Amino acid sequence: MRASRMLISTLKEAPNEAKIDSHVLLLRAGMIKNEVAGVYNYLPFGLRVLNKIENIIREEMDNASCIEILCSAIQPKELWVESGRWMKYGPELMRFKDRHEREFCLGPTHEEIFTSMARDLIKSSKNLPINLYQIQTKYRDELRPRFGLMRGREFIMKDAYSFDKDEEGLNVSYQNMYDTYTKIFTRLGLHFQPVLADTGNIGGNGSHQFMALSDIGESEIAYCDACGYAADVEKATTKESELDNSEMLPISLVNTPNQRTIEEITAFLNVDPKKTAKTIIYHDYVNNKLVAAVVRGDREINEIKLVNAINSNENYLELAKEEEIVNLGSIHGFCGPKDLNCDIYVDLEVAAMKNFVIGANTIDYHYLNANFGRDFNGTVCDLKKAEAGDLCPCCGKPLKIERGIEVGQIFKLQTKYSEAMKCTYVNEEGKNIPMVMGCYGIGVTRTLQSIVEQYHDEFGIKWPLNVAPYHAVIVPINYKDDAQKELAESIYKKLIENKVEVIIDDRDAKPGFKFKDWELIGIPYMVVCGKRAAEGIVEFKNRQTMIKEEVTILEAVERIISQVKNI
Ligand code: ATP
Ligand code: MG
Repeated sequence: MRASRMLISTLKEAPNEAKIDSHVLLLRAGMIKNEVAGVYNYLPFGLRVLNKIENIIREEMDNASCIEILCSAIQPKELWVESGRWMKYGPELMRFKDRHEREFCLGPTHEEIFTSMARDLIKSSKNLPINLYQIQTKYRDELRPRFGLMRGREFIMKDAYSFDKDEEGLNVSYQNMYDTYTKIFTRLGLHFQPVLADTGNIGGNGSHQFMALSDIGESEIAYCDACGYAADVEKATTKESELDNSEMLPISLVNTPNQRTIEEITAFLNVDPKKTAKTIIYHDYVNNKLVAAVVRGDREINEIKLVNAINSNENYLELAKEEEIVNLGSIHGFCGPKDLNCDIYVDLEVAAMKNFVIGANTIDYHYLNANFGRDFNGTVCDLKKAEAGDLCPCCGKPLKIERGIEVGQIFKLQTKYSEAMKCTYVNEEGKNIPMVMGCYGIGVTRTLQSIVEQYHDEFGIKWPLNVAPYHAVIVPINYKDDAQKELAESIYKKLIENKVEVIIDDRDAKPGFKFKDWELIGIPYMVVCGKRAAEGIVEFKNRQTMIKEEVTILEAVERIISQVKNI
């Protein structure tokens, strides 16, 4: 490709809204262009990378015997009502009506469509198992679209759905996808970690997320160096605390004027925060009631765990309003589980504690020496957010916390959708049995940006060779110089003949300007034809290492060809 014919739209500076390096670089390198919050256009270089990532995913999915189809983004409400998600999905679902007042959504995911597909098209159990996938555009009206392609409102996902006769079959399909994802992210050069995950909106049980490790990741991973346990913090459990066997002391009411927060209370009463419990009251709009969650004072509540415990939905759980708390007979800042008239959920750790401080549901009062079982009751479950230093649930060694970008997730759906939507097969005894399903997503556009997040420096992007928009660029210092031009053209021709994706920079511009462009765009190899062109000597630059060397034309050409052959 000739640079003079290309749409090269590099920018000196990125627009202000870009906050992280990978977003800045994708904009500055002219890979993507933004029109509406969370919605992007892919420019020529960005599109080439996207296509390469998609092809790697496609190859590995095909190798794993998955079958590609392509579904529309528009989905009818009726299927979502059948699955029970039309009401449950929340404001992220982009809904609309056509001119006949019929309701639709733009698919945020495709369980309903694929389940309907299997129900209608798979007639015989002989066709099972089957795994269908697509690479397609999804829509989610995210509350906070941000970080460019990381959290868009329109994005590309690879989604796959497996249909098996039984649980055993699902386990095989799931493992097949786990292994395939490992191959895909390895081929994409990502530093990643599979982790145990919560199943969220999708439902079912059994799930892993694939996390690209990065400080800017929105997810936190709790992991154990000793035994390899790794889980999303939303899911991570910790070794259960041992029961404190101290004697229960008599409970007593103390005056704590204006001492509302755990910091204030612990300072005022001179107690360790670990000897306090805090009670947080939520309104669960799914079941339309108030619930109280009790965790140790220095802990954070993991709302995902709470939502799972109360069978609600994270989009429909809110902190209770002041007047709701007052109606319960309590008061903000002094809430406690004793004599509280709502469902109470108590973290395992609190149930194992003795003689701790709780709010007294009366302004300016707390109780000392409260005890679970004697002074209050409730459903005991895991509610706390795991923290660094908590003990690993598998081996008991301290956990560490690291950040990651969720680039993929796999789920065992079991029969959640097939039962609701009557997606069945006929077994040997002639009975209709629901198919056992799994679903498997990769955020393709999020993966693209995650690669940039892991592969960049102050000059720009450093694409791994197999996803780079082009493999090499030839830069004649002065294209008007005959020797340089001729040499550059001959290298260009030779590389094209050897299937190298190569650009010749024939633009009428200063060499420094050209170098900056290609470093920003991140082309892996640059061949500079300058003063020594007549002697057959060029400069060879490696974008990953930034090492420059003077080599013969033959050497430069052979190096590139052999690297490209090895992709
Ligand atoms: P998140 O927790 O980040 O919102 P999710 O768990 O809701 O994601 P899934 O339903 O598991 O997402 O979708 C499969 C994959 O699609 C995710 O692993 C992620 O890589 C990608 N993805 C999800 N939401 C977005 C988005 N708004 N923008 C870009 N990619 C996304
Ligand atoms: Mg997910």
